[in-house]
Amino acid sequence: MRDFLLNDEMRAFRCEIRALFQRELVPRCSDIERRSGWNAVMEVVQALGRGGYLRLLFRDLYDGPLTEPGLTAATILSEEAAYHNYGFESTVATTLSCAFPLYRFASASIRDRHLRPLIEGKSVGAICMTERNVGSDSAGMETIIRFDHSTSEWVINGFKRYISNASKADVYVVWGISDPTVSPRKGMTAIVVPGDAPGLSFPQNYDFMGRRGCVVGEVSFDEVRVPEDNLLGRENEGFGIMLAAFNFERILLGGSGLGVARSAFDVAVAHAQQRSVFGQKLGQKQLIWDMVAEMSWRLNAAELLTYRASTMYDQGVDGVNLMGEASQAKLVSTEMAIFCADRAVQILGGDGLTQQFGRTEQIYRDARALTIVGGTSEMNKYLISSREMPTIKLNL
Ligand SMILES: Cc1cc2nc3c(=O)[nH]c(=O)nc-3n(C[C@H](O)[C@H](O)[C@H](O)COP(=O)(O)OP(=O)(O)OC[C@H]3O[C@@H](n4cnc5c(N)ncnc54)[C@H](O)[C@@H]3O)c2cc1C
Repeated sequence: MRDFLLNDEMRAFRCEIRALFQRELVPRCSDIERRSGWNAVMEVVQALGRGGYLRLLFRDLYDGPLTEPGLTAATILSEEAAYHNYGFESTVATTLSCAFPLYRFASASIRDRHLRPLIEGKSVGAICMTERNVGSDSAGMETIIRFDHSTSEWVINGFKRYISNASKADVYVVWGISDPTVSPRKGMTAIVVPGDAPGLSFPQNYDFMGRRGCVVGEVSFDEVRVPEDNLLGRENEGFGIMLAAFNFERILLGGSGLGVARSAFDVAVAHAQQRSVFGQKLGQKQLIWDMVAEMSWRLNAAELLTYRASTMYDQGVDGVNLMGEASQAKLVSTEMAIFCADRAVQILGGDGLTQQFGRTEQIYRDARALTIVGGTSEMNKYLISSREMPTIKLNL
């Protein structure tokens, strides 16, 4: 059994969520993958909302049967969803990443208006950090957020790209520079923008090699005005709000990597036991044993790192005290998913490259995004090293 870190409640939860995805997600996967199926996406999101599964991270809003809701349960959900369709899982994980700052930093009225529909599965959310000239180096943002004292409104001008759920989300959490006279870390603000705000537009969605079940595109802000109340936390404290969500996002991505990898592994070992070559089962060949063993130990190692990090988070460890463990979970699990996807294609041979025979063609394309989204492998390595060498200043 690979999940020995989990207690009985979490194992039972895994069975429950697995059954839900089997019922709700699996029949809709092909629609979702073709991107013609936004209704299909929302039907599964609604099922998650109805079951209380989108409240797992917010203990005081959770009203379901689990005695220990939290990130471990949410990571299991991510893993089980990504097993079937990583694009769909990204839509949900992005919504949780949007819900998190609303929950922690929004005023009561904004929480009521925008958080509630997200956790009830009635809408999805988006987070807007990345820009044309700003990806890993998120402190170099060019979007401007200013306060108009004459109308008491926040005014946003800028352009964001690679935004998951762009044009589909009902609410956008947006980061921009509010005080250009100081360092971005001290002059960045986070703001809530409703999807129907005048001046908000979505110039294009992108065609990615994989992760097609998630809509990703551009978001443009042209004199977008929102009420004073839409501020998250305090003015110029947006950088801290950005950092606050990084640990849990990375751990959830650890779950995404596990799901994608487990899917690849299951297809590969089933094929190796069924396919005959040179008068024997493919799985009897030692070079295939090697590949299966390499996938298996990597999966187990990534699982240990991911659920170690989620368990620490649920026990109250966060911030810099969790940064190393969360980064290791994300790094190892996502690199491992690419490895497993690649080996699964190899074990399937020609079948592995086709859309007609087996799922590895999609898994291979999907897996590639994992080491780029939510902080690249290189950025995670910097964070891990900085924890190990506290006297050295990061040289990015
Ligand atoms: C499918 C998808 C969905 C996304 N969804 C969202 C979203 O919802 N919201 C959002 O805000 N963003 C989103 N992103 C953006 C994502 O977070 C960025 O792509 C990621 O942070 C990397 O930024 P970049 O693409 O600009 O690459 P860059 O920052 O330009 O980096 C390019 C390469 O250089 C490396 N590199 C950069 N700096 C260094 C350094 N100092 N030392 C060594 N190597 C370095 C990187 O690791 C990377 O390999 C999404 C991206 C994708 C592909």
